Amino acid sequence: MLKNQFGMLHLSTGDLLRDAAKNGTGLGKLAVTYMNKGELVPNKVMLGIIDSYLRVHADDSILFDGFPRTEEQAAQLEKMLNGYPVKVLALTVPDESVINRLSSRRVCEGCGKLYNVTLGGIPEDGCTDCGGKIYQRKDDMPETIANRLSVYHQQTEPVMEFYENRNMLLEVDGEGSLQAVSDRIMEALA
Ligand code: AMP
Repeated sequence: MLKNQFGMLHLSTGDLLRDAAKNGTGLGKLAVTYMNKGELVPNKVMLGIIDSYLRVHADDSILFDGFPRTEEQAAQLEKMLNGYPVKVLALTVPDESVINRLSSRRVCEGCGKLYNVTLGGIPEDGCTDCGGKIYQRKDDMPETIANRLSVYHQQTEPVMEFYENRNMLLEVDGEGSLQAVSDRIMEALA
């Protein structure tokens, strides 16, 4: 929604790492050893990726999705952006809802389109956009979800304070329908 509304580039670091894993690159092989356990890929690796991306897209408006996930990533991103204006959206959802959402989430192998077992179901003939196979991410299995939540609380939650201290944080209630959350996001950004 944001990408279309504001003509931004969408960089999902998770999608980027999953693509690398699918293509069997060195980065992908390294990343899956962390991703499959629900752990974070080391800061140095992530910051290298962002640095390269920013060099190519210096004049673009970018929507980072899933980044920064640690205070170190936030601090280094701040240096890289060198005063460029930033808005930070935090979609807050209780742990219980996170567990429900992730365990019912499915993804298209081909284009990354998201599906949900309880909301709308899974088309039998594959992805409605590209016909690709729909699968469940390894890190959306129950044991891994628990670890991801604990990693989130320890390493990613402090990032909110980092941006709150800089008056950049826009906290949005992430519960409710797609439309309700989209409306809240637009209101927060207005
Ligand atoms: P996501 O698709 O955003 O849920 O990310 C899936 C997985 O990719 C995470 O659980 C991490 O293992 C890895 N990952 C994605 N973004 C980052 C990041 N900014 N820093 C470290 N690891 C990341």
